[in-house]
Parts: sequence; structure tokens; C-alpha cells
Amino acid sequence: MSWDFEKARRRMVERDLIGRGIGNETVLAAMGKVARHDFVPEDMQTSAYEDAPLPIGEGQTISQPYVVAYMIEASGLAPGERALEIGTGSGYAAAVMCEIADEVYTVERHKPLADAARARLQRLGHENVHVVHGDGTLGLPEKAPFDVIIASAGGPDVPPAWKEQLRPGGRLIMPVGTRMDQRLVRVMLDEHGNTSEENLCAVRFVALVGSAGWRNE
Ligand code: SAH
Repeated sequence: MSWDFEKARRRMVERDLIGRGIGNETVLAAMGKVARHDFVPEDMQTSAYEDAPLPIGEGQTISQPYVVAYMIEASGLAPGERALEIGTGSGYAAAVMCEIADEVYTVERHKPLADAARARLQRLGHENVHVVHGDGTLGLPEKAPFDVIIASAGGPDVPPAWKEQLRPGGRLIMPVGTRMDQRLVRVMLDEHGNTSEENLCAVRFVALVGSAGWRNE
């Protein structure tokens, strides 16, 4: 008998998302729809619906489902919006985001990961997500402004370019701290151009490496 991925995914949504406080129906529906086992190495597919990060090559990891859901919920991402993700990795979080948003741009610094994620997202039929290879700490000025910016890698500070690329009313979610420990920060830009910043929770992400991040891996 083949592994019942759908059942495992439903259980993940119930136990690890709803059970731990994720309440946004749009986010839950997107998490229930995207097949995480399509984003992990073949020999790990049966672990895809455990609430844990898994290796995806180049020393990087796919984030744990709870954290992906938490960040997207905290960003308030809504239908009709445009989003930027930094740190495509496997493309999993971008796939969840593009189930909600109109348009998602996602930037990855490792070319093999960017190429694999682009091919995977295309194969899975996601047409409103665009994978860009490059240094995401600079944002993506040619596609700005964004309603939401989510960083899937942690850095010492919020890169200035990201704040500049938020539209009024926009929200930015990023792990900020040391290489070992970070806090998830939410930056909001109001209609008058004023930013406010709040701490959400403690997290641990791989390093954001680039000109406005850590200098090396
Ligand atoms: N969202 C991903 C998680 C990937 S882990 C997923 O769902 O699978 C974070 C990723 O950020 C890694 O792939 C890493 O290579 C990438 N990264 C780190 N610094 C970056 C930068 N400056 N620009 C773009 N990507 C970066």
C-alpha cells in the first residue's frame, strides 16, 4: 500500500497548526492544499508531514510547517496582494503564499536551489510565483512595492531596502538576531510612511547571507 500523504497532511493541519493556535482559515486552507512531500528529497517524503525542518541540499533546510503557517498568518497576507519572499529554498513557503496572494516573487542566492525550485513550482502548476536567483537582501526593486515581505532566513538587522520596498499598509516578517538565535520581527508601514516594529516569538533559521545580511554562511 502506498503512503497516505493526504491523511498525513490533514493530520499535520489539525495537530501542528490548528492545535498550536493557527486560526486563519485562508492560511489553513493553503497549508492543507500544498503537498509538502513534493518539496523534500524522495527518501524523506514519508517524514514530510512531521512538524520539523528537513535538509534540501546546499546546507539549507525546508522550514517546519508550523513556522511557515505562523509567518504567513502574522504577515496578514490576503487575496489580491503581492508578496516577496527571501530564501526560496525548496519553494514550499512560496507555494503556500501563492495559494493566497495574487503574485509572489521569491529570491534565492544558491543557483541550484533556485533552478530546482523554479522547475518544481512550474511542474506543480503554480503560475503566479516567480523565482529569482540573486542576493535577496537587496529586495527586488524592479517589482516593488510589496504588500508583504517574508524572510525565510535570519540576519543581524532588517535590510533597509526591504523597508523601502513595502507599500503603505505593508507588513514585513523577518528573523532578526545572532546566527544561533533570532526573534521573529514584524515591521508595519502605515499610510503616512511611519514604520512600527514588534517582536513576535523566538525562532531559529538558517543565515541570511548577503550584502545586508551575514557576510558568509
Ligand atoms: N522558504 C524555504 C526555506 C529555505 S531556508 C522553504 O520553504 O523551503 C532559507 C533559504 O534562504 C536558503 O535556501 C538560503 O540559501 C537562502 N538565503 C540565504 N540568504 C539569502 C539571500 N541573501 N538571498 C536569497 N536567499 C538567501
